[in-house]
Amino acid sequence: MTSVPFLSFGPQNQQIRAQVLEAMTQVFDSEWYVLGEAVKRFESEYAAFNQTTACVGVANGLDALHLALRALNIKAGDEVLVPSNTYIATWLAVSMVGATPVPVEPSLATYNLDPTRLEAAITPRTRAIMPVHLYGQACQMSEIMAIARKYNLQVVEDNAQAQGASFGGQLTGSFGVLNATSFYPGKNLGALGDAGALTTNDESLAQQVRTLRNYGSQQKYYNEVLGYNSRLDELQAAVLSAKLPFLPEWTQQRQALAAQYQAELAGISGLHLPTVAPGATHVYHLYVVRTPQRDALQSYLAGQGIGTLIHYPVPPHLQTAYKDLGYKPNAFPLAEEIAATCLSLPLWPGMSPEQAKAVTEMIRGFYNN
Ligand SMILES: *Cc1c(COP(=O)(O)O)cnc(C)c1O
Repeated sequence: MTSVPFLSFGPQNQQIRAQVLEAMTQVFDSEWYVLGEAVKRFESEYAAFNQTTACVGVANGLDALHLALRALNIKAGDEVLVPSNTYIATWLAVSMVGATPVPVEPSLATYNLDPTRLEAAITPRTRAIMPVHLYGQACQMSEIMAIARKYNLQVVEDNAQAQGASFGGQLTGSFGVLNATSFYPGKNLGALGDAGALTTNDESLAQQVRTLRNYGSQQKYYNEVLGYNSRLDELQAAVLSAKLPFLPEWTQQRQALAAQYQAELAGISGLHLPTVAPGATHVYHLYVVRTPQRDALQSYLAGQGIGTLIHYPVPPHLQTAYKDLGYKPNAFPLAEEIAATCLSLPLWPGMSPEQAKAVTEMIRGFYNN
């Protein structure tokens, strides 16, 4: 029996061990440990990778989302359109500036924000749309950008799961006025701890975020605005620079594994496989299937040594943290349907085709075909 963990850093770490240790040694020897050369270098490399003019490194993805909204002066009394089925961080960033997250349901085919549902959620208080490229697939950005222009709304992309994905040939993280990403270890580009960044083509907004992340200060001990300490760590920046050149190859490995899953799992009735929308690419941060027998399938696979996870078991509107918004079950039935039926299969760079085959054979075994 081949056991397959949900995620392993083993092959990836082995591939980059020498480069990462060398990068960390350089920081150690530099004797400059906060906002030094490594952060500057990674910011310019990631901006080039993401085809934006600027990148600002921050402490984590949630802070990146939060600082984007702060820099855009979104505040109490404002509303921000968010997906009903995202990770809670997207909503929390809105709450952190005192604004109200207004959920919009996804398309069941792509799990991404359904642009045809956006207009109905817009009110005179709406200030921004936060598309999340969930699981690694780019949202329908041309329709989202057109609606944003029509209603004069800002777009802030949550690109935590989709580094390197594109829509209509343009990279995610380059459509919105200020966009956020996360380098949490399990993300497609992951640090050895917490890290995040904003990407933008607006130099003045980039400068505002640089000030906000560093105590609201441009000149040491002179504070212009009420800021935060949310600097990208120098060591993490060095690690990220060492890993970034491998990201395209790792993305191809993710896509090849997804194609194998797609081929070997095709035709099982009651098992919905992910679909990629026209114009979008998918970098498979997660390979998510849906089935009404989700819990039984998950425990069957666990018994066979196959690790799976649920992204995410409870949608934000039903979390205790958001009880004050007053949403009841069935308020957002598509998000709830996804939460009740989704299952993420093992997928990571360096996972072998044999391991993927073991997963699909076990799933076929569960369905007896
Ligand atoms: C990981 C993630 C975040 C938050 O990133 P952290 O670095 O953990 O703060 C935000 N949004 C989405 C969609 C994520 O997957």
